[in-house]
Amino acid sequence: MFPASVSIRTLLLTAVAWSFGLPVGQSSRAAQWPDEYRIGQFIVHADFPLAPHYDLLNSLPLLQTQLVEMLGIQPSHEVIYVFLFNRRSTYQAYLREYFPEAPTRKALFIKARGPGMVFAYRGEDFETDLRHECAHALLNAALPMVPLWLDEGLAEYFEVPAALRQRGSPHHRSVAWAARLGRVPLIEELEGMTDLDQMGRPQYRHAWAWTHFMLHGPPEAREELVRYLADIQALTPPGRLSRRLRHRIPDLERAFANHFRSW
Ligand SMILES: [Zn+2]
Repeated sequence: MFPASVSIRTLLLTAVAWSFGLPVGQSSRAAQWPDEYRIGQFIVHADFPLAPHYDLLNSLPLLQTQLVEMLGIQPSHEVIYVFLFNRRSTYQAYLREYFPEAPTRKALFIKARGPGMVFAYRGEDFETDLRHECAHALLNAALPMVPLWLDEGLAEYFEVPAALRQRGSPHHRSVAWAARLGRVPLIEELEGMTDLDQMGRPQYRHAWAWTHFMLHGPPEAREELVRYLADIQALTPPGRLSRRLRHRIPDLERAFANHFRSW
């Protein structure tokens, strides 16, 4: 959840970054991570014992299954490196040293040309942060690109435990309340965002809301999202999702408001 996380697509990784114990077995310094754990495609390194978090880590492959089921995309089995820190100060120092261009956030997803990397520390929102960043990692491993707002909307959607995704998100109440007052965020405004700096709390909430509408609203909306992502995966120019949705659902704002009013 904002400002817990950020994804960086354009960051150039330096050779130095890769030499610090990132991929297992590629560096003698890899052994310096006190604990390591592999589950599915996730390779987890931590500076604290991971055993108390096995339930959370073991649930990460299920996140892939749920994401694939909901979005109809073909999964990627690309490795995802996860780096976990006990203290915020160690996490921040590590990022400052190896990813100085990275913004100051509570958790990070970084992907350039290689496998995706997730960084987080054991803070208050540790589980949520980890699911959020791993959702980014899974999406960006499977798809050649994801529009910024949709990437964040989906990560916000998948960051809560599965049982809470449809009705228990912390965003739900305020979105439903606004919808009752006839306030519907403009999807085109979200689509115009190209930089994470443009996205504050309201934009994250709006991105979540449109994502929720597509996944749990009228079947045509979900169908169009699935088709849109399939086009992206097939490298077919997908056009604008807003235009596609408006073509399928002419009174899109009314459908959005009805979806949340009925919550
Ligand atoms: Zn994010």
